[in-house]
Amino acid sequence: MAHVLIFPLPLQGPINGMLRLAEILCLQHINITFIITQHIHRRLLHSSDIQVKYHDTFHFQTVPDGLPEEHPRTIFEFSELMQSLGAVAPSILRKMLTSTDAGKQVSCIIADGLLTFATDIAAEIGIPLLYFDTISPSAIWTYMCLPKLIQAGELPFKDDNLDETIRNIRGMEGIMRRRDLPDFCRTMNFKDPQVDLVLKQVHHMPISQGLILNTFQHLDALVLFQMLKLCPNIYAIGPLHTHLQSSDIISSSIWQEDRSCISWLDKQPSNSVVYVSIGSLSFMTKDEFLEILHGLVSSGSRFLWVRRPGSDPVSNEEIPTKLLRGIKDRGCTVSWAPQREVLAHRAVGGFLTHSGWNSTLESIVAGKPMICWPHYVDQQVNSRYVGEVWRLGLDMKDICDRVVVEKMVREIMELKKDTFLERAREMADAARLSVSEGGSSNADLGRLINDIKNMNLCTKSN
Ligand code: UDP
Repeated sequence: MAHVLIFPLPLQGPINGMLRLAEILCLQHINITFIITQHIHRRLLHSSDIQVKYHDTFHFQTVPDGLPEEHPRTIFEFSELMQSLGAVAPSILRKMLTSTDAGKQVSCIIADGLLTFATDIAAEIGIPLLYFDTISPSAIWTYMCLPKLIQAGELPFKDDNLDETIRNIRGMEGIMRRRDLPDFCRTMNFKDPQVDLVLKQVHHMPISQGLILNTFQHLDALVLFQMLKLCPNIYAIGPLHTHLQSSDIISSSIWQEDRSCISWLDKQPSNSVVYVSIGSLSFMTKDEFLEILHGLVSSGSRFLWVRRPGSDPVSNEEIPTKLLRGIKDRGCTVSWAPQREVLAHRAVGGFLTHSGWNSTLESIVAGKPMICWPHYVDQQVNSRYVGEVWRLGLDMKDICDRVVVEKMVREIMELKKDTFLERAREMADAARLSVSEGGSSNADLGRLINDIKNMNLCTKSN
């Protein structure tokens, strides 16, 4: 039986994608060892019962992340987390790969694209390695073009004009402005550990045996076509969660879901609610919180807002009475929502999102138009594609102003509601087609499963 070692980044978004892939592979009778940090494992145990459901074929293997328990592990300390993990994980991974008993020999490793140390270890031991990059392909393609942008003098930016068009990314001509590149391009400090990580990733990607992406041909055909020139073996198998029956999908939340929002949604009219969430890592300031709340309340729309613990610094006492009344009359707030279920609910008519890739895909599958307020990593690129290329919503990038929020909510929920809903429905249909029999993602997933099974035969015969 093939045995795959899956190694995600210890963050909610990548874990969601990798656990979905693990579930799909378990259903194909492939053994999975899922490497996860002790910190995330403790939190996940509260909400996931994957170990119970796939007890024969799925196993967590915990590793320390090297940080003290009380470390906050927020996005601001991401580089610290990566450095620490990079210092402790390689020797553990090497030991795991060399000491596993013969029956459980590893057929291949599937690692996050940022865990570049895994490539060196895999090559050293002679085990195939596939990267699964859980961010958007369009952002990965901008990463891959960074050396070219630097060489052409487009990076670092020569002045402050963020509306200047980017010329040296094939397949994105006429689409990207400076402000649509990943956030770190704005400072492009070559001493920034994040830039170093990304450039290392770009160097390692073509060395792997393949690249798994959570997307589908209809959505990202142009970008995939360009990427294939550098990485000839791409498996575009998304949207991953659509391969599974929704009742089968196991929760992979590291926060406790508050399901009271579903009963609240049940009482609202169809397509009347804006769902607001900035994902698992982003933060907003008090001013930003109040601007968004003002905009939502003035728009007259109903809203369901996820206020993840620590995602905003505002106490109820600091919210003006008029806005508190707005929340009471037309709003619902929870600390963490069952997001896929919320997006699929008939009452939800739009999604004010930070444009994380999981959230974007989940919204696409649910056929819900988006208002994008991107923060970092791939989100600037994703929001540009949502607004300009796929035309599935509006991009609020770099602006957080009550008037703009109100205007955009009105546009999505009233003025252009039918147009946006129709486009969103078409893209949702295309997503569903891609994973059904004969669809592109279905075919790529079949090829991935076959390749993994063949890798097993090769590693066994060595
Ligand atoms: N999510 C959730 N409940 C919430 C907010 C988010 O389950 O209340 C999930 C969401 O469905 C998505 C993930 O958290 O799968 C966030 O990943 P994404 O890539 O969108 O953003 P990130 O958190 O990595 O910035």
